[in-house]
Amino acid sequence: CVIHAEPSMNEQSKMLLSVDLDERSYPIAIGPGLLADADALLRHISGHKVAIVTNTTVAPLYLGRLQAALASDGREVICIVLPDGEEYKNWASLMQIFDALLANKCDRKTTLVALGGGVIGDLTGYAAASYMRGIGFVQVPTTLLAQVDSSVGGKTGINHPLGKNMIGAFYQPRAVIADTSTLETLPARELSAGLAEVIKHGAIIDAAFFDWIEANMAKLMARDKGALAYAIARSCEIKADVVRQDEREGGLRAILNFGHTFGHAIEAGLGYGHWLHGEAVGCGMVMAADLSCRMGYIDQAAVERVRKLVAAAGLPVKAPDLGVARWLELMEVDKKNEGGAIKFILLKPLGSPSITSAPHELVLATLAAGVQ
Ligand code: NAD
Ligand code: MG
Repeated sequence: CVIHAEPSMNEQSKMLLSVDLDERSYPIAIGPGLLADADALLRHISGHKVAIVTNTTVAPLYLGRLQAALASDGREVICIVLPDGEEYKNWASLMQIFDALLANKCDRKTTLVALGGGVIGDLTGYAAASYMRGIGFVQVPTTLLAQVDSSVGGKTGINHPLGKNMIGAFYQPRAVIADTSTLETLPARELSAGLAEVIKHGAIIDAAFFDWIEANMAKLMARDKGALAYAIARSCEIKADVVRQDEREGGLRAILNFGHTFGHAIEAGLGYGHWLHGEAVGCGMVMAADLSCRMGYIDQAAVERVRKLVAAAGLPVKAPDLGVARWLELMEVDKKNEGGAIKFILLKPLGSPSITSAPHELVLATLAAGVQ
């Protein structure tokens, strides 16, 4: 079962959580220095060969340490270094991974290790799901977003020129090893983007965690190790619990898309890459809170709390002006929209979710209020 972390964690604390999915269950280890912890890593690797997939930004920072830890008991370690960027989460990179695995005669017992952010994690997970019909993989997330969100839950995949994350598989890792020390080198903008998903977890599931994030945002922005470790642990617990109940997004898992209906419209409307995903989600959460208020689910004071917290995380709170028609068009193609009406994840109240459609005039009012 899921272990509850204590908010009083110190800098050296290590934590172990679990994602409970019967025979697909796996542990999440969180703490400083885990990248070089051979014991923590090797227990999840069965075969003689291990292939690390990473990118040109992360490799000079962390590949050597991970490679040494994995090779420490005589295993053969293959390193696959891809170019950095969302635009490389594609078919060509997937083939580059398969080429390296085949050239190195990797068999079904080979384990893949994803060392990097969500791009590397999604790509490597999908490679593991399809190489020889499925081999083991371990997530070693190095961005805050990947540590609190993308490395947990088993959604893997790549982008298609006609749509983001359109090709993929549900495929759970054997373990998630989140080394919190890696966050020291993360660019500030990427730290803020990860905090958006942390705020999301509090807003939709846990009002007490939302209170804690409010009280500790200054520490989180200052990269206080104890505060970050607690935020990661609580986020993973919340996400793991949702995934346990609805692994393949039959219903409940959609609540993790709070802020994402508006956010995806911003990302797609501006063209991917202008705003980071977390930036769009931050602003999208403010808009979703505004709509929740117009629906009578929360009061204006709760909307202000969300707005202030998103702003304190260094994220935008005003959306770009895409034009109302384009906004509606983009939200309608969002994948959560089934059967005509746009489905929104709203707060009812702060700390719990409601999946619902909303009257057109209220959506228009939120757009009018939320746009710069
Ligand atoms: P990312 O993987 O592009 O990483 C952001 C940047 O940080 C990159 O330039 C990366 O090289 C760099 N970086 C990574 N670790 C670093 C470190 N420790 N120090 C310095 N730089 C570092 O972006 P992301 O935000 O981690 O992930 C976004 C991706 O995750 C998207 O493709 C999105 O679709 C996916 N995602 C997947 C899920 C899921 O459930 N599978 C959930 C959310 C997001
Ligand atoms: Mg997201």
